[in-house]
Amino acid sequence: MAAYRSIYLNDEHLAFRDSVARFVDEQIIPHINQWEEDGGLPSELYQQAAELGLFGIGYPEELGGFEADPFYKVLSTIEISRAGSGGLMANLFTHDIAIPPLILDTQHPLRDSVCTAVLSGQQRAALAITEPSGGSDVANIQTRASRDGDDYVINGSKTFITSGMDADWFTVAVRTGGEGAGGVSLILVPRDAPGFTRTPLKKMGWWCSDTATLYFDDCRVPVANRIGPENAGFPFIMQNFNNERLGLAAQAWGLANAAFEEALEWAQQRKTFGKPIIHHQVIRHKLTDMRARLDAARAYLFEITWLISKNQAKPADLAQLKNHCTDLIEYIAPEAVQILGGAGYMRETKSERIFRETKVLSIGGGTREIMNELAARQQGWL
Ligand SMILES: Cc1cc2nc3c(=O)[nH]c(=O)nc-3n(C[C@H](O)[C@H](O)[C@H](O)COP(=O)(O)OP(=O)(O)OC[C@H]3O[C@@H](n4cnc5c(N)ncnc54)[C@H](O)[C@@H]3O)c2cc1C
Repeated sequence: MAAYRSIYLNDEHLAFRDSVARFVDEQIIPHINQWEEDGGLPSELYQQAAELGLFGIGYPEELGGFEADPFYKVLSTIEISRAGSGGLMANLFTHDIAIPPLILDTQHPLRDSVCTAVLSGQQRAALAITEPSGGSDVANIQTRASRDGDDYVINGSKTFITSGMDADWFTVAVRTGGEGAGGVSLILVPRDAPGFTRTPLKKMGWWCSDTATLYFDDCRVPVANRIGPENAGFPFIMQNFNNERLGLAAQAWGLANAAFEEALEWAQQRKTFGKPIIHHQVIRHKLTDMRARLDAARAYLFEITWLISKNQAKPADLAQLKNHCTDLIEYIAPEAVQILGGAGYMRETKSERIFRETKVLSIGGGTREIMNELAARQQGWL
């Protein structure tokens, strides 16, 4: 279990954290290296995670979820990150970025069946916003959905989509109106919709998470599949990003902490010049610096989580937190690899994998530059 104390956590939080920690120790850590090499997760893991309640955190009870303050999600993310694989998190929890807009559309004809299937681990859902022409300028997406009787006919392409090959349902951002944010809608597209195809992408890290390009070629989907009113998709997307940014910040912290713990253990055991390397002052001072920055970032993470629980957090808080935690991992991961020496460059150490996973965290869910831009504008500085 990740070791930390906090005034924000009560007994229920800690009991939940313990149950997730046991699951990670027994069901994930022994297998994660193989899953990374295989490029995917076994289907039974989705059922096991669902049964433990990991998929339902904060979702409506009638759909298979349970009421939970945002600390539950943060704590479970940190525990699962101890396995040292962001790809595992991206794969298992893609639904957390895909279904929140559908949950909000209580009139949607497929809401209950799709969300129940996804939260029980039987089906999977993905979110498709980014396009080959660019991901940062979300209001400028080009994929168009045109009305034809009771259908939308979708043409365009999406790329870098997590679970793009494996998902059963896709929450897709499309242009149904004029230019800009006011012309964007969200549509739920099933994997077998006519005119919808996908190709896989290879990448630097996150190997056990599939990533794909999606093609919509006169793809037909019923108008009833639209999520929310026409041309009102943009606010759903923005709200969704806030959840995603908290998750990515917690993941960055959890992975950085996992790399630190591996480096500390290594430093206590590995001997050079007749003594464990932690007895070389430069190594133990590296570890002290790493620990201090981790502890400070965790206090910040929990402070913002608490503000979210009180409905007092602003999008700027989440943007700044995400940057702070992704900066942290970009500092911690290379230091951990350095302390492990050659072993840190070898596959199957957590630090090697985490090192390869640092950059995706400051790109996905909004880049570092866009987070700063959003925060500066929202602070009212311009
Ligand atoms: C592994 C992985 C998984 C992903 N999963 C998903 C997913 O499931 N669904 C999905 O929709 N997307 C997903 N993405 C896409 C991700 O959200 C985008 O990559 C990201 O938003 C950036 O878009 P882009 O790559 O097109 O870069 P661009 O928008 O082309 O930006 C390129 C560079 O320019 C900078 N830049 C752009 N505009 C400005 C500006 N105004 N000021 C300063 N700098 C600027 C950016 O910060 C960046 O450094 C994923 C990406 C990766 C790598």
